[in-house]
Parts: sequence; C-alpha cells; structure tokens
Amino acid sequence: MDRDQAQARAEKLCDEISRHNWRYYVLDEPELSDAAYDALVRELQQIEGEYPELVTLDSPTQRVGAAPAAQFASVRHAQRLYSLDNAMDLGELDVWLERVEPEVVRRGCSYVCELKIDGSSIALTYENGALVRAATRGDGKTGEDVTVNIRTIKSVPLRLLVDVPGAGQDSLFHEDSPTRIEVRGEVYMPKESFARLNAEQDEAGQPTFANPRNAAAGSVRQKDPAVTASRDLAAFMYQIAAPRALGVETQHAALEWLRAAGFKVNPDIKVCAHAEEVHAFCEWALQVRNDLPYEIDGVVVKIDSLALQDELGYTAKAPRWAIAFKFPPEEKTTVLREIRVQVGRTGALTPVAEFDPVTVAGSTIARATLHNEDEIRRKGVRIGDTIIVRKAGDVIPEVVGPVERLRDGGEIEWSMPSRCPSCGSEVWREEGEVIPRCTNAGCSAQRLERLGHWASRGALDIDGMGTEIITRLVEQDMLHDVADFYALTFSDLTSLDLGRVKKDGTPQFLGETIAAKLMTSLAASKVRPLARLLFGLGIRHVGSTVAETLASAYRSLDALMAAAEEELAEVEQVGPKIAASVRAFFANPENLDIIERLEVADVRTADPEIEGERREQTLTGLTFVLTGALERHTRDEAGAALKALGAKVSGSVSKKTSYVVVGAEPGSKYDKAVELGIPTLDDEALEAIIETGQPPEEGAE
Ligand code: NAD
Repeated sequence: MDRDQAQARAEKLCDEISRHNWRYYVLDEPELSDAAYDALVRELQQIEGEYPELVTLDSPTQRVGAAPAAQFASVRHAQRLYSLDNAMDLGELDVWLERVEPEVVRRGCSYVCELKIDGSSIALTYENGALVRAATRGDGKTGEDVTVNIRTIKSVPLRLLVDVPGAGQDSLFHEDSPTRIEVRGEVYMPKESFARLNAEQDEAGQPTFANPRNAAAGSVRQKDPAVTASRDLAAFMYQIAAPRALGVETQHAALEWLRAAGFKVNPDIKVCAHAEEVHAFCEWALQVRNDLPYEIDGVVVKIDSLALQDELGYTAKAPRWAIAFKFPPEEKTTVLREIRVQVGRTGALTPVAEFDPVTVAGSTIARATLHNEDEIRRKGVRIGDTIIVRKAGDVIPEVVGPVERLRDGGEIEWSMPSRCPSCGSEVWREEGEVIPRCTNAGCSAQRLERLGHWASRGALDIDGMGTEIITRLVEQDMLHDVADFYALTFSDLTSLDLGRVKKDGTPQFLGETIAAKLMTSLAASKVRPLARLLFGLGIRHVGSTVAETLASAYRSLDALMAAAEEELAEVEQVGPKIAASVRAFFANPENLDIIERLEVADVRTADPEIEGERREQTLTGLTFVLTGALERHTRDEAGAALKALGAKVSGSVSKKTSYVVVGAEPGSKYDKAVELGIPTLDDEALEAIIETGQPPEEGAE
C-alpha cells in the first residue's frame, strides 16, 4: 500500500471505527462483534505505525470512548479516566512484560493481576464519606452524571465504612484529611440476570441486548432511575483516583482499602512476582471464565507500585503501567443441518437452527434461535451451510453467519411455512410485526408451552413437573389448561403411561414416589405471590417484571381484573400496548373460566404485604404522581410505600391526579401540575404521609 492508499484507508477506518464507537458507547447497540471491531482498530494502528504523520488528534487510536450524550448532565472528571492497551494473545502480553520487567525486578516490586470485568466504567465521588456523584467514563475527560441511577445499585455504598485504614471516621470528617474521595470501577450485570432481562425484553416485544456489557451500560444510562433499579446490577471497584492522599502506596493496598471502605472488590486478585506467574493467572482465568457468574473479557495486569506507575505515566489513551490481556473470541464453525420452527405459548413461530454439536465457551451447543425470517434473510444462512456460531455475551448461542466460500451449491434456502408445523392451522403475520403466529389457540404445541410455562420456576414453580410428564398428561387427556393441574389426583398420576416399556415388556407407569412428590409440589404451588401467578398466566407482553409492577399496583387479581384499560395504561412501565393485552386476556371467556376453576381449586396468591403486615388503606382513592429526585427514597420506593397505603401511583399528570410529589430538578410533570392546578407536595410532606399513613392536609401546596 503506498502512502496515498494508506491515507485513504486510514480515513475510511477512522470514520467507520468512530461510527462503531458511537453505536457502542452512546447507543449501547453495537453492530459488530468486539473481535471484528478490534481487528479494524488493529489495522488502523498498523497504518499509523507505518505512517506516523497520518495520526490525527481525533483518530480513535488517540481517544477514549465517546463524548457524553446530551440527555445527561456532563461531569468534568477531576482526573482523567483512561482506557487500557490490549494484548491479543500471550505473545503480545510478553512484549509488554519484557518492556517493564527490568524496572519491576530492579525495584523488587510486583504485578497485580485482576479479572477484566466486562461492564461499564464508573467513577464515584464521596464527600465526607457520602456518595455525592457517579459519572460514566465518557471520553475520559468528561463523563455523564448518572448519580440517581447508580444510587439504586445495592453493592455501591451510599456511605463509606468508618474503619478504613488511613481514613477512619475522624480523618474522613477531619478538615486536614481527604474529605473528597473518588473511586473507580466497573458496573456489570450478572450472566443470569442478563439472560432473564433479555427473555423479558423479548416477551414484552422490546429490543434485546447484545451482551451483558451492553445491558449494564444501557441500564446505567437510563433516563428513569426506576428502570435502572429494576435491572440487577452490581459494581466491582478497583481504583482510587488519588490513593497517595490516603496513605496507599500499592495497587493491592488500594484494593484492600476499597474493600475495607465497604466496596465490592473482586476476590480473584493475584500479586505476581514475575512474568511466569502472570501467565499462570491468565491461563487460570481462561479456564474459569465460563464458571464465573459474571462476564470477563480478559485479565488486567498492573504494576503494583504506585510510585513506578507515576513514573511510567500514560499515552494519549492508556496507562503505560497496565495492559489488558484479552481472551480470544470464542467462535466456532459447524454445519447447519436443519431450521426447525418452534411454536411458542402465544403461538409465535420461531425458526431455530439445528447444527452439528460444537463446544463454545465451555459448553456444547447444537441449537440457536434465528429469531425470525427477516433475520435469516439478513444473515443469509442456508440449510447445509458451514456457519460461524458463538455465544452472545458468552451466554446465549448465536449463529453469526455462513462461510459463503465453503458452499458447494447443495445448500437450500429456507422460508417460513404457511401452516403451523404442529397443528396445521394457518399462520398469520400482523402488519408491522416480524413474527408470524399460529392462529389456533387450541394448538397442542402452544398448549404444551403454556402448561410448561405455568409450572416453570419463575411462575408457579411446580417442582418435578417437567416437559415429559406434561406431554404425557396432555396426550392422555388429563391436562388441557393450567387449571387442570389442580384436578389431578394421585391415582391419575400413577396411571400415567410414560410411553416406555419395562424389562418384562409391560408398559411403564409413573412411580408412586414421584407421583407423591408431584402431589406435594402441586399443593405447594397453590400459594405463590400474585406476580408469579400473573406471569404464569402467560398474558402477552406480561413478563416477570411487568407482572411485578401490576401486582404491586393492584395487589389482588380481582382488582387487576376490574381495572379499566386507560387506568392500566397509566401505571408506570405499563403503557397502552400492555394495558390492551391485559384487558383482552381478562375479556376472554376461556381465560375467565380458567381463573374461576383456579379459584375453586383454592389457588390463591400469598403476598407477604397482603397477608402479613398490611397497612391500613388510608390513601384509597388518591392518585399520586412523582417527579424529580427525592431525598430519602428512590421514586420507586416512594411509589411502593404510597401503594401500600392504598394510593394509586401514576406516571403522568391528569385532572384525576390528586397530588404531585416534586423532588429536585423535576421534569415536565411539575409544569403540567402547575398548569392544571394540581396540589404539589415536597419531600418532607411525602415522608410525613409515608410515616403516619395519613393523607396530606387540605390545601397542601
Ligand atoms: P477496554 O474495555 O478494552 O478496557 C478498558 C476498560 O476496562 C476500563 O475503562 C475499565 O472500565 C475496564 N476494566 C474492567 N476491569 C478492570 C480492572 N480490573 N482494572 C482496570 N480496568 C478494568 O477499553 P474500552 O476503551 O472501554 O473499550 C474498547 C473495547 O471495547 C474494544 O477493545 C472493543 O472490544 C470494545 N468496543 C467494541 C465496539 C463494537 O462495535 N463492538 C465498539 C467500541 C468498543
């Protein structure tokens, strides 16, 4: 490549990488895999290495992240937050180690190896021991103010513990000692929570997240802190911005300090004396990564001595005293044998790829959803193709695409069948929807899914009632809908033919021990919280989170069934689409019949707040709207407390609103309240209501 070609290519790469940075850091919606993105950056670095005069100030190789988005207030960081240089394999790690090792050895200092948590960077500022600000990394100099959101994360202490070495309570509050402390770390979403969130997003017809990192970043950068609070986030902290002021001289001491101050610090940290130990830690991390409950994408190797760190300093983008050893991407190739259509419990037809089993990220996979026909067209996969598969966020199997060059012409294009593969009924694709549905509510595949869903862990949790038993019960006419579960008797179960034969050639029936266990599980499942029952009913768009919201807003199935559509739509996080679906569900005579039979079978909800410490319903008939940041509670907590007193809490102000509670920096709801002349309450008045349970006095303003 001559210089002109190199320049043209570098410009193109700069544009393309910047666009991906924006998608990744600002929209939290990457289009490319990290491996593919890293490959583009590498190419640009190579060109810039060869032609240093082509390096521009705004080249992505010289910049950290992306500028803060306009929807957040920006925060100027007191000290810059940097990215990390990457080593893509152990060889590259060695290049860095060889560079720093002589000085490390000469000074008798060590390395600290930490897991590289795949989440979103965060900087927390504490003043006099109390959390006052949380900011994203942004472009390293300026971040986004996400304090209200970070406050909802339980592992982030709102106040530092007192017995911090070098900054005990006295010194923390003492004028001469540091009263302002900034710490840095990573907010992440555990793998299990990520899988659950995506299932809920899918259920609610919302876009899913590509991986736990994007889910964490997207959850931190929410306009509504209630949404952040509803996501299961946690944070590991690993850095103090000005450690020397606290008498901390090494990275491992900084980690100890953070732990003592009450932060969550990753336990898998190793102080290594030399390169071999660093290697061993990287190998170990590679082995355990799939067993960890959170995502890691490498190991960060840091020089332990802060004095040596200071001497080595920083490049434009990253410290010279640390390197990220990145794990190789886990992608494999295999052969796509079949695309099978799965019928969901709402009739949704989903194409699923079935391929030769391969081991990816520690487990064997042989199937992956292809989501819908459009997605198959977009990916361009055909039956018989050699395909690339991976685990999205190392959790969910995913087909990346075909290796087209390996085609031999025998591959077959796939299209969605026009009839349900289970019951043969016609398939209907609503306008604007990508997913076609089987139109027959009595379709046996749908029925099996609905029954399985009811018995599943997140719903009524009927221990032992798995797919096989449900299938047999349906086949043998003992189970048609969820209410039938509770009509099953011990002798029904022991007469269930398992469709297998015993050694002596006689049919095998369900054993008495299992039948007895199932009877106990069925009895236990009759008393579950309302939210689980609502989730179990399988109302379209009502995933477990929406079910929780509805349960806490209405507190009984009767109240929910009586609610008008407009009223439902006003419940925060519900909206018109879910409201319509809930109403349609309760308007259907077949569903009403099931509910009635469940009641007769004594399936009743048991919410602790309802049966236990139920507060007197002193606020019945009053509707509250909350806006702005409240001092002592999150809006969600305050809303729940008001609901526990019988009030309704709505997301928008209307003439029907009784009071608007106004916190700091209120939104447009406050203007609307003033416009409509709705009485407003401040934080103190709200606290008085929650504490005494008494409605505000007349004329509150
Ligand atoms: P990075 O994620 O490679 O490394 C730096 C970050 O690591 C730090 O800011 C910190 O937040 C984090 N980290 C986690 N654990 C840590 C620990 N123990 N100690 C110190 N830091 C720790 O760098 P980056 O600048 O945030 O992002 C670059 C990477 O992001 C790329 O290599 C690529 O993989 C990905 N990316 C992907 C796309 C895409 O389109 N797919 C776009 C942009 C960036």
